[in-house]
Amino acid sequence: MDAPLAPGLYIVATPIGNLGDMSRRGAEVLRGVAAVACEDTRITGKLLGHLGIKQRMIRYDDHAGDAAREGLLALAAQQPVALVSDAGTPLISDPGFKLVREAKARGIAVTSLPGASAAVVALTLSGLPSDRFLFAGFLPNKAKARADTLGALAAIPATLVFYETAPRLEAALTAIAQILPGREVAVARELTKKFEECRTGAPDALIAHYATHPPKGEIVLVIAPPGEPTTDPGDADALLRAALATRKPSQAAAEVARTTGLDRKALYARALELK
Ligand code: SAM
Repeated sequence: MDAPLAPGLYIVATPIGNLGDMSRRGAEVLRGVAAVACEDTRITGKLLGHLGIKQRMIRYDDHAGDAAREGLLALAAQQPVALVSDAGTPLISDPGFKLVREAKARGIAVTSLPGASAAVVALTLSGLPSDRFLFAGFLPNKAKARADTLGALAAIPATLVFYETAPRLEAALTAIAQILPGREVAVARELTKKFEECRTGAPDALIAHYATHPPKGEIVLVIAPPGEPTTDPGDADALLRAALATRKPSQAAAEVARTTGLDRKALYARALELK
């Protein structure tokens, strides 16, 4: 780097698998700062080693406590300090929000060095509408909280993006099939790595596939937006039948109305007939 870096906080994105995705500017900043704040010094130490950078590392996450944050803010007020996470873009389901908020409140310069984020890579690979999307972090682990989260987002007219882990994939797909019936899903796995895969289809087909091909590695789920109101009564009947398997007619009608845009009263009447 030609000129020394000015004091401040430098948010630096790092690769999510393929080390070739580290930007040159990001690497120059990591070389030029006074210290690198990171989640795990072993993981960041490996990246720095790969880049041939010897650098002071300070462990930091948003639960680190006020004292750790104060220390970093005091340093960033006087010298350049980088913030990285284990992989991808800091603050995106990773630490940094409180640090950035406080730095800005104190007039400390904040700069962001862009790079990979698994959510965006998955969205671009999914083949699902990319004009409007909502990133919602990790789905909750508990069944009721997961169902509530999906239900609360069901009517949002946007593609939904979630982070997931392999052991929870089947439960997540099952919940999506029940709560967002009729919506296509993409399972994006091991992005930018040797065994990268993005499989898009109906949740039931994906569940069947992964029952015989147990998923490994890191996963992003991308869910298609709610469809146009369906005019085919057969489609609505199929959705109602699926919803009635686990719900009362009023709830089934409300759910199908939410995902299809059809009239809830008419769906309720039909649900009573089908029950
Ligand atoms: N800040 C990171 C980013 O910008 O992508 C995300 C951090 S979050 C703690 C980790 C989650 O991101 C994983 O559980 C997975 O859902 C997703 N993820 C990260 N790397 C991935 C990859 N190479 N392929 C698929 N998903 C990935």
